[in-house]
Parts: sequence; structure tokens; C-alpha cells
Amino acid sequence: MAETSQQSSGPNPLCEVGRTHPRDRHRMRPLDGQAGVWTCARHGLFASLVDKETAARLERGDPFPMHDGSGGVVVRAGDERQGGTLLYYRPADE
Ligand SMILES: [Zn+2]
Repeated sequence: MAETSQQSSGPNPLCEVGRTHPRDRHRMRPLDGQAGVWTCARHGLFASLVDKETAARLERGDPFPMHDGSGGVVVRAGDERQGGTLLYYRPADE
């Protein structure tokens, strides 16, 4: 394991659904093979770190390229962490 990533260190972020439904708080999991990307399989959500300027510019529903290059849409910005802002997103509807 030569590859280390600052972005994948620290606690996993809370799922965005859990943030808004206190009775359903749960954390996302790191996505295999993608440093700095988390996912919640239950809700089909993803999260990754973007810089603060990017997060401030993006609004819910804006297009956001997914980690794998496919199309996604912004769900919302989350907590600041490690100098960036956590951004929740999900795959765009086909
Ligand atoms: Zn979830």
C-alpha cells in the first residue's frame, strides 16, 4: 500500500439523509478504489471533497461530474473538512 491519501483519513461523513433525519443517522463508507469519495449504498448517495469556492458556486440539482466520469447532480454541500467542503451528490437520472 504505497498510496496514502489525506482525503480518506478521518471519520467517514454522515450520510446526508441521516443529517436531515436525526433518527436515521448513519455514516457513509469509503468507495473502493476511489480515495476521497464516500458512498451510501442504501440511499444511492455519494460524497467527496471539493474546494470551498466550488461548493459555494454549486446548488442543488446542478450537474456535477461523478468520480467515474458519468453524470451526477448536486444534492447539497455538507461540512467543511480538511480545508475543503464535503459535497453530496447522486447519479443523474437517466
Ligand atoms: Zn444513507
